[in-house]
Amino acid sequence: MTDTYLNLVNSGVTKKLAKQLGLPQPAPLRRYEPGQPLLTGSVLVLGRGPESDALAGVLSGDWDLDVHRHPTPGTRYAAVVLALTELTHPDQLSEPVLEAGTVLKSLPRGSRVVTLSRSAVADDAPAVAAARQGVDGLLRSLAKELRGGSTGNGIVLAADVPVTAPSVLGALRFFLSAKSAFVDGQLLGVDSAAGSVPDWDQPLAGRVAVVTGAARGIGASIADTLARDGATVIAVDVPAAGEQLTTVANRVKGTALQLDVTAPDAGARILEHALQRHGRLDIVVHNAGITRDKLLANMSPDKWDSVLAVNIASQLRINEALLTSGDFTDAPRIVSLASTSGIAGNRGQTNYAASKGGVIGMVRATAPLLEAFGGTANAVAPGFIETEMTARIPALTRQVARRLNSLQQGGQPVDVAETVAFLASPAAGGVVGRVLRVCGQNMVGQ
Ligand code: NAD
Repeated sequence: MTDTYLNLVNSGVTKKLAKQLGLPQPAPLRRYEPGQPLLTGSVLVLGRGPESDALAGVLSGDWDLDVHRHPTPGTRYAAVVLALTELTHPDQLSEPVLEAGTVLKSLPRGSRVVTLSRSAVADDAPAVAAARQGVDGLLRSLAKELRGGSTGNGIVLAADVPVTAPSVLGALRFFLSAKSAFVDGQLLGVDSAAGSVPDWDQPLAGRVAVVTGAARGIGASIADTLARDGATVIAVDVPAAGEQLTTVANRVKGTALQLDVTAPDAGARILEHALQRHGRLDIVVHNAGITRDKLLANMSPDKWDSVLAVNIASQLRINEALLTSGDFTDAPRIVSLASTSGIAGNRGQTNYAASKGGVIGMVRATAPLLEAFGGTANAVAPGFIETEMTARIPALTRQVARRLNSLQQGGQPVDVAETVAFLASPAAGGVVGRVLRVCGQNMVGQ
């Protein structure tokens, strides 16, 4: 799906006109290509204490980045990392935050700001909790001030998680890279030091992944991205989408499984296919989903039931089959597609939002069941993504929906796919039962 407006405001006369009229000027986003460097310039790491020193050490040593600890006049930083995990009082925010402020005007297009902080909990001293929670508000506001396709995101570490834990480093790389192009204004919790640092180019090598709803749209992009990262992919979709499904499966050198995910034996059939054809199953991406929008006052039982059946009941049933099988135990990953509608609500989508809110509850409660095997369950909540699903939205509503986020545009299927791939990776082993939004910092909801 193309965004004609985005193309117009970035070319020739219409670019000038849009500027004069003060119209939204979404910037084209830089997406990841294999072989691309993590950053195309220097990184400024701000913050004081042994943890920020350790982090700066990894960035300059292991990742070979040009790290500065204070702004150097004339340098246009590709990224600013605010290491704020050692704060004990809001007074300590001013030095690093105002120092970051001095370089913001000269950030190039598509730059990154990432905060690292600790989660504020009731046991904290009030000043400690105030400092920690303050980072949350700071980051969300700063993300709204960035322009030119630049993004701001935060990593929130639980009490005992070191700044060099695999999931902290994995999340930091994800947020710094072009893989997170449409993730903006988000704070991702890291709950434990579990997980492992992978080969960053092939993080899913040796893993077998099933992707439901893989014949088109976001699901097809997830299949492509997991395969690029080294996974063997089983592409699942309904028999009616068989031809497109085969195309995707062939493209990713995986296998196709024609299956309606609402079938009572869907879990058993997925497992049987995975074990017979590939010898194992490690990753399940619950992407198949439908909308049947109606105001609740006009909702038919059929519209309500079909959405709940595909979007949530099938996932619960498949997970139960996998979790009780004894064959899904080697650091398994479940990644489910939620939606910002399930968080903020959306008129005409009570059925869809119930199902997507349900996904968020499900992953939170499923994650503890997987922890003993080093497994995780997490959700990805897309906002407005350019697919056939959103192409069905009336034209004017679609134009407005696209602009209602900090990046002033819709995301691409690959933006969701990259986020799924990150959560499916060994580096995300400490991210447990979380929801990561891919919405360009949508103005609705949290
Ligand atoms: P899409 O309609 O383009 O593709 C969905 C795929 O799921 C189709 O190939 C379809 O055949 C398949 N599917 C539907 N019912 C199935 C079933 N019973 N069994 C097996 N496969 C089935 O949708 P999309 O835009 O690519 O969305 C993918 C996921 O992302 C969905 O869960 C959707 O709710 C979610 N999502 C999308 C957006 C967006 O803006 N596009 C926003 C938020 C969430």
